[in-house]
Amino acid sequence: MKLDPAVIEAAIRAVLAEMPSTGTDAAPTQRSEGDGVFADMGDAVEAAHRAWREYLTKSLADRRRYIAAIREAMLRPEHLDKMSVDAVMQTGMGDVADKYLKNKVAAELTPGVEDLETSAWSGDDGLTTVEYSAFGVIGAITPTTNPTETITCNTIGMLAAGNAVVFSPHPRARDLSVWQVQTINRALREAGAPENLVVTVAEPSIENTNKMMEHRKVQMLVATGGPGIVRTVLKSGKKAIGAGAGNPPVVVDETADIDHAAKCIVDGASFDNNLPCTAEKEIIAVDAIADLLKFHMVQHGAYELSAEQVKQLEGLILGERGAATEWIGKSATAILEGIGVEPPAGVRLLVCEATKEHPFVQVELMMPVLGLVRAPDVDAAIDLAVELEHGNRHTAVMHSQNVSKLTKMGKLIQTTIFVKNGPSFTGIGIGGEGFTTFTIAGPTGEGLTRPRSFARSRRCVLVGDLNVR
Ligand code: NAD
Repeated sequence: MKLDPAVIEAAIRAVLAEMPSTGTDAAPTQRSEGDGVFADMGDAVEAAHRAWREYLTKSLADRRRYIAAIREAMLRPEHLDKMSVDAVMQTGMGDVADKYLKNKVAAELTPGVEDLETSAWSGDDGLTTVEYSAFGVIGAITPTTNPTETITCNTIGMLAAGNAVVFSPHPRARDLSVWQVQTINRALREAGAPENLVVTVAEPSIENTNKMMEHRKVQMLVATGGPGIVRTVLKSGKKAIGAGAGNPPVVVDETADIDHAAKCIVDGASFDNNLPCTAEKEIIAVDAIADLLKFHMVQHGAYELSAEQVKQLEGLILGERGAATEWIGKSATAILEGIGVEPPAGVRLLVCEATKEHPFVQVELMMPVLGLVRAPDVDAAIDLAVELEHGNRHTAVMHSQNVSKLTKMGKLIQTTIFVKNGPSFTGIGIGGEGFTTFTIAGPTGEGLTRPRSFARSRRCVLVGDLNVR
């Protein structure tokens, strides 16, 4: 059972208030300049460029130490508390306990320098190597939904590959992003790194993001966000990575362990109040097991909405262009209260039967509200999942014991992440094997980004020597 976020927040605040001061790192958020924060975007880029030139002179051992220092700083309990509490308070979205976990895995499971494997050929003509080398200064645009997780993950990956980075955070996460960049800079300074390897501006804005994208010393752009910003970076004329929106379907067929599937869907779709781009956004259930699935989902913390409640909810959580911003990332209990329903204890997810045309199925709501569509059989369910994923190539989930059908869905849906028989968050390494990332690049094909995604491939050829075979 999940605790009320307000209770968790109050408890964390109480613990923080009791803690002895740990110096400037734990100081209240302030929008000051210095420690990587600049008033002017041009100055920020120039500083990052100078830092990158100096970074070129450092050894790989140095890089490893800097990455270790970033991980250590982001994993300090008081910093994890601050990032999870303040992200919810400043953006008005998400769940404190889940954000704590996301921030922790971002610092622990993002790969470092070890990801940069060298390829080599040796023979009569000598030795040729291909190495992953830095782009230079990367401009990274970060979302409201994972503000600090993305900065941690991108910083580790981009610095591991030898780059400097200029962040353009979402203005709603401004204060926390500024604090995080400053905290990272202090940790890097203590580890002996060049000043300003990670920078941002005191007042992030669309105008500043545009300045960053146009600056000639920014060699690569990485956009983690919705379709608008992904389109913008792809039109920039620079090397760009686009990590865009998803609408992950979850298919449940008649061979699945239905109780397990129900628990996984409630866990995955309620995680951080459904903010992750990877979270289950609609359910497609084979007719024969749909009632049983709903029964078990309710046992695991879902609430089934009546037709009348669905109508009320449409008026509340839908805006003119999809989801109403003020309800994105709100808890199931808050949303129920919004339509005047007293939430039963332990409710984490709202579910309703819907047609495939319904906005609770079609739209990336980023709320713990899921439409469930019935399909006559597993093949029809897979076809519908492909349609509802909208070609985002992002994430899909399937619960089945039929290996052929799992394979069929994997092939047809073409998503970057395909989770079988688990909650969606296993796809980014939370309870599943593999590394983590918070920048999942479906449109441009890098997939789950890692240090090598932020590197150029460069060949060095030595003719005639160093072949000892
Ligand atoms: P958003 O697109 O509103 O904002 C993302 C970033 O882009 C912000 O920093 C914002 O300030 C900036 N931005 C947006 N439009 C811009 C423009 N015209 N010019 C300059 N900057 C602009 O998205 P959001 O609400 O912050 O995040 C949620 C969206 O991001 C969802 O669609 C979600 O699926 C997606 N997302 C994708 C991934 C991924 O890895 N694929 C990860 C997290 C979020």
